[in-house]
Amino acid sequence: MALLFSLITLPYAPNALEPVISQETIEYHHGKHLQTYVDNLNKLIAGTEFEAMPLEQIVAKSQGAIFNNAGQILNHNLYFLQFQPYTIEQSSIINHQLPIIQAIGRDFGSFDAFKAEFEQKGTTLFGSGWVWLAADKDGKLVITQEPNAGNPVTKGLKPLLTMDVWEHAYYIDYRNRRAAHLQSLWQIINWGEINRRYTE
Ligand code: MN
Repeated sequence: MALLFSLITLPYAPNALEPVISQETIEYHHGKHLQTYVDNLNKLIAGTEFEAMPLEQIVAKSQGAIFNNAGQILNHNLYFLQFQPYTIEQSSIINHQLPIIQAIGRDFGSFDAFKAEFEQKGTTLFGSGWVWLAADKDGKLVITQEPNAGNPVTKGLKPLLTMDVWEHAYYIDYRNRRAAHLQSLWQIINWGEINRRYTE
């Protein structure tokens, strides 16, 4: 059996996101939770029509267990690759010349208004799921709440930025304080990567 999907390599050290995300959380979240989704999907798609498909296409066309595992791989790949190592200097710097930052100002009124709506939608998503910043085909930005393994690609939107609100994403570091975790994540977002996704 050809193993089609493998665990992504993180572009930073496992402790590089501290104190926002601990090394222990990275080791469980990337090393165990995401690894399990990869292992499950590789078993589930063996010998099926999905075996030769790119991940986004599997997410768009599948249902049930295959959708759940493929969606979680796509979601976590976008999630882990959107971060940069934490430094005090960079934690609050936003380059307002970036097209994605200008588009956020245009579509949400201000960067702070966008952050407040994003955090509110992440905090009020009941149960497990993901909150997303996504773009429609005209480049207009929207925030969506997706339950479980959901991804805005299933609505024809391009996913740009996401926060994981499954408890496994924050319970080691923040216990039940989901809102505090979401608020903290802004400090490690690599806006250059989000801009690349938006403009490609
Ligand atoms: Mn997760």
